Amino acid sequence: MTNLLSLDKVMRQFQESWQNLPDIRKPNNNTRYEVSDAALSAFSVFFMQSPSFLAHQRDMHKRKGKDNVSSLFEVAKIPSDNQIRNLLDPIAPNHFHADFKWVHENLAQTGCLATFQDYQNTYLVALDGVGFQSSETIHCENCTYRQDRGGTIHYYHSAIIPVMVKPDSPHVLSLCPEFIVPQDGHEKQDCERAAVKRWLVQHHGDYQAHQVTFLGDDLYANHPLCQLIDETYKQFFVFVCKPTSHTTLYQRLDSLEESKGLDTQSGRHWNGRHGEIWSYRFTNQLSLRSGENAQLVNWLELTITHEKSGKRLYYNTWVTNHVITTENVAHLAKVGRTRWKVENENINILKTKGYNLSHNFGHGDSHLANVFFSLNVLAFLIHTAQHLLNTAYRLLRDTLAVRRTFFNDLKALTRYMVFDSWQTLFEFMIEGLELELPPP
Ligand SMILES: [Zn+2]
Repeated sequence: MTNLLSLDKVMRQFQESWQNLPDIRKPNNNTRYEVSDAALSAFSVFFMQSPSFLAHQRDMHKRKGKDNVSSLFEVAKIPSDNQIRNLLDPIAPNHFHADFKWVHENLAQTGCLATFQDYQNTYLVALDGVGFQSSETIHCENCTYRQDRGGTIHYYHSAIIPVMVKPDSPHVLSLCPEFIVPQDGHEKQDCERAAVKRWLVQHHGDYQAHQVTFLGDDLYANHPLCQLIDETYKQFFVFVCKPTSHTTLYQRLDSLEESKGLDTQSGRHWNGRHGEIWSYRFTNQLSLRSGENAQLVNWLELTITHEKSGKRLYYNTWVTNHVITTENVAHLAKVGRTRWKVENENINILKTKGYNLSHNFGHGDSHLANVFFSLNVLAFLIHTAQHLLNTAYRLLRDTLAVRRTFFNDLKALTRYMVFDSWQTLFEFMIEGLELELPPP
């Protein structure tokens, strides 16, 4: 089971896959370096979370005649940073979609993906937009920009990163990102929704009907997107639904409330310190907007209050196309709340825990910023897949997470020593730490 996605196998797969990346150099140009070497080298920086990884390995190669970029990341010859930028800049980021798909197919084969199934055996896929690369001076042809009040133009990139989440699991599985491309005359919200639609058009075929529940914030709870998911692609959604952006729906809810037409359910929870009262209200078959043929949705609300003081601790409302009953309302609210994981785990790790390296690695004139972002997300997915499937990796990561040194140890070890494979590296670390692998 572990061999299916061993790191050595993953890197060989990427090496093979990236041989097919387009190389726009004219034949008489300096073609000393392969595009695949550039992509693998960039990936190694993100995977190691170390901007200086390549520089150290070039030094190592001079000293020892060998290096870890070759042995661990399948790179034939490490290109210079400039060459990496030049080779990757012309490559549209959708060339990496197949790599995300390959990882997910392998996760499915190991049975690992199935453990992510949740409500009615659907996969929960949270959709969220994230901004990256922001600058007042550096920009490219794929930058979005906005002008502030003082007239200064801010350039930035943003993307939708869908992630598979599971309530109560610390792991999230990234799917391939879709970049938010600026379009004239469209507001930010339109651009984000349009990017989600583009993602759905390209990737809905990866899932059978009624297999996915999409999660998202209020901006996704709009008629065209809900209809696309419900009617066209036969999937499910649980989206946050706020009164300010859904006046028709909330007018109907007000009248149901007056006539006591809303269903209710409540229960007591102990949070370890004090009791909480979790109160649900819900109703089915409401129009999401005014006008004819409006998408029908089912609405639910969760209020959590302090048992003693009555203070409101949490409040949220969602719409869904899952039918809501007294039996499932708590589970559906839990599903809706799982969206926070995207912000807490996926995006925060990407932003703050060392993955936001693309910023100091370069921007490019065309696709480079988006290519780096894609490789960054892919590196994050591979780390998660290793955590889930690779016993040695999991043992090391869990042991060293406590000391917050996993990545520092990787950096230090690979700076001083050359390892001929990931397996050798992990065995060395396990032996040095006197850890014992659990029996298979
Ligand atoms: Zn740009």
